[in-house]
Amino acid sequence: MAKSKLIAPHGGKGLVCCLLEGDKLKEELKKAKTLKKVEVTARERGDLIMMGIGGFSPLKGFMGKKDWKNVCAKMQLDNGTFWPVPVTLSVSKEDAAGIKAGEEIALVSGKELIATMKVTEKYALTDKERKWECEKIYKGAGDDSADDKFWEVAPKDHPGVQMVLGQKPVNLAGPVKVLTEGDFPVKYKGVYMRPAESRKIFEERGWSKIAALQLRNPMHRSHEYLAKIACEVCDGVFIHSLVGNLKPGDIPAEVRVKCIDTLIKHYFVEKNILQGGYPLDMRYAGPREGLLHATFRQNYGVTHMIIGRDHAGVGDFYGMFEAQTIFDKMPVSKEPGKNLLCKPMKIDWTFYCFKCDGMASLRTCPHAKEDRVILSGTKLRKMLSDGSEIPDHFGREEVLVLLRKYYQGLEHKVEIKMHGAASGDKAK
Ligand SMILES: [Zn+2]
Repeated sequence: MAKSKLIAPHGGKGLVCCLLEGDKLKEELKKAKTLKKVEVTARERGDLIMMGIGGFSPLKGFMGKKDWKNVCAKMQLDNGTFWPVPVTLSVSKEDAAGIKAGEEIALVSGKELIATMKVTEKYALTDKERKWECEKIYKGAGDDSADDKFWEVAPKDHPGVQMVLGQKPVNLAGPVKVLTEGDFPVKYKGVYMRPAESRKIFEERGWSKIAALQLRNPMHRSHEYLAKIACEVCDGVFIHSLVGNLKPGDIPAEVRVKCIDTLIKHYFVEKNILQGGYPLDMRYAGPREGLLHATFRQNYGVTHMIIGRDHAGVGDFYGMFEAQTIFDKMPVSKEPGKNLLCKPMKIDWTFYCFKCDGMASLRTCPHAKEDRVILSGTKLRKMLSDGSEIPDHFGREEVLVLLRKYYQGLEHKVEIKMHGAASGDKAK
């Protein structure tokens, strides 16, 4: 077989997949039923499935304290491999007391057996350590992250900080064997993909320079433009949506997937685009999450991660382009396989401009704020939720029809908060 032209998976060890199949799976399922059970959160479940399918290569399990600390402090595992966010499992004091190091346990989500884990380490995190993790991972350069404001605003408005503060007191670390991909393969048939599957498609299409567009909002004109810029300079574009959990008020994955299908059908050359989904929850870690997005995209075979304005942001915690500049500050290991190889494709704030008579960005459009239709997913969601008229050039009509239908069917509306990043006030 000819040598693959695709980018190598992260970590220099090929795709590391902890998912069992066939007889090994049957045996492990049987054994799992006899083990002590620990309930995992939705985020931990998503992390497990990513470790299962190789999306988190080279991780083989939840992180021990040294890895946790080095990842927070300098974005590297203890062995020097690049990794931008902690991937940890927390349990209650009672559960921890009943589990010995060396013991195997079953990780469950309700009635579903997700994985087994050989516990190699137990470590408690103090409140001070957890606050330190929050500051390292979620405190950015935005107004809400100012020293006198962060701890006042973040516990009530930052879903990632709430997640860390809500974790149980003891972390368990160790290698995992993953037993299921949950409902993702059925619920998102044709969209949910393992890294080995996207790599196979890229090979078949002869692509090697591949950009990924991260999506958690319905695709509007600005996203369409980002994907098209990438299409012009790459072999192909992977439109890769999060199909895990978002915060209340965000649009569910099945609606977003339908919108992307419609957009691809009407406005893209289909052979140059691939749509896929991945099973993670959002952490809203802004710059650090931008790096995580590039890391697991490398495992999916992607060479360039599109990073636009306020990537993976929430509220005003991050600077508008902080998720771009963090790529210039990454630690570098002497062993090339340990470094992140997937590059950022940095694109400035994009919008429709009436004077340019087309899509443009702050790098290309010399006109005034009044000439531009400033687009943001949050603003679009708010207008749809309020039932207000969507201005021209904000989205494509074929997509807006689907979104209006979704909002009209909603019984409970979540109020969508507007902030500087979403209101367009900062695009001067
Ligand atoms: Zn213009």
